[in-house]
Amino acid sequence: MIRSEILRDIAPILRDHLVVCNIGLPSQELHMIDDQPTNFYMLGTMGLSSSIGLGLALAQPKTVISIDGDGSVLTNLGTLPTIANNLADNYILLIIDNGSYGSTGDQPTYAGKKTSLTAVAKACGCENVVEVQDKDCGPALQAAIDSKKMTVIVCKCDSGNIKLPVITMDPVVIRHRFMQAVAS
Ligand SMILES: [Mg+2]
Repeated sequence: MIRSEILRDIAPILRDHLVVCNIGLPSQELHMIDDQPTNFYMLGTMGLSSSIGLGLALAQPKTVISIDGDGSVLTNLGTLPTIANNLADNYILLIIDNGSYGSTGDQPTYAGKKTSLTAVAKACGCENVVEVQDKDCGPALQAAIDSKKMTVIVCKCDSGNIKLPVITMDPVVIRHRFMQAVAS
């Protein structure tokens, strides 16, 4: 499976929760598959989905799911010790690890070579780290939500992209409706 197929699989689970989605194609795909006011699409700042999601989880009680990529986590590797040391049991980091920088043309990342983000997350002190294959992402995500424990999920999948439009919604609108969803 490729990332867009995983997002399609887990969209019914994501719908009920606050979601911070990685810049580029992941956000475009989620927007196309199931646009929701509870989705915060990042239109800038590669690497910060996990950081923004952690901050949001620490600031309020609703479950927050950050959807990130292997390339983005590698870009902001300091995020994993920060997550490990700032416990928020309403926070789930879902790393869709396709071993490539998908949004820039599928150049390979080190996560697709020698570096295991699962091992890195554990070494950083993250206590609940699970690695799953693409088709098992939905059950793993639901289990993480139900556990009410901060969880890092590394979902291994194939690299590959679909053709789809950019998000034309004004960033101010994305932010405003998301803030309303957080407060409601
Ligand atoms: Mg990737």
